[in-house]
Amino acid sequence: MEVLSLRVGYIQTNCYIAFDDDSREGVIVDPGDEALKIIQKLQNEKITPKAILLTHGHLDHMLAADELRKHYQIPIYAHEKEKAVLLDPEANLTASWMNLPMTLEADIYVRDGEEFHLAGFDWKAIHTPGHTIGGVCYYAKKEKKIFVGDTLFEGSFGRYDLLTASPSMLMESLNEKLFILPDDVKAYPGHGGTTMIGVEKKTNPAVGYKK
Ligand SMILES: [Zn+2]
Repeated sequence: MEVLSLRVGYIQTNCYIAFDDDSREGVIVDPGDEALKIIQKLQNEKITPKAILLTHGHLDHMLAADELRKHYQIPIYAHEKEKAVLLDPEANLTASWMNLPMTLEADIYVRDGEEFHLAGFDWKAIHTPGHTIGGVCYYAKKEKKIFVGDTLFEGSFGRYDLLTASPSMLMESLNEKLFILPDDVKAYPGHGGTTMIGVEKKTNPAVGYKK
């Protein structure tokens, strides 16, 4: 699995394109804005996207999702509990941060632990609530890669003060869902640089946090 990253939108969110080098099929993770820029990248690299994976419903992770869905006729994945965020302009921040209230309906709502096959890869959805109620990480176990959205950042973690967030759930997600993965799994966060689970489970300020 190869991974390309683009920074999109005014918050410069990481949009990732994960693809198979041979088949050139891939998925788009968190297309937060600038659909044309993402389409251009896919065209330049001759990659055919098969799905859009949303780690959560905040505007800076999903603003370009509907345009890409229509352009490529591909489904949008999100966690079942994130439906409430996607369909609430206050919770998805389009009302308060952009003053342009909008909602988004995903096509496929996954559950914790659900496994699926996309673009030639086996994926597992890991529900990691805390930043939002239905935050989910997409884990490609064989590839040793995980897309963690705003749950985990390099040496840090996401906000827990926005609607549907919970600091105790975030700490639990980090410690009990992510820091139990193998050390050599590479994490791709929604903002900033990539990191390794082995580094974060030793040095992240959330380590060992007890409620
Ligand atoms: Zn977010």
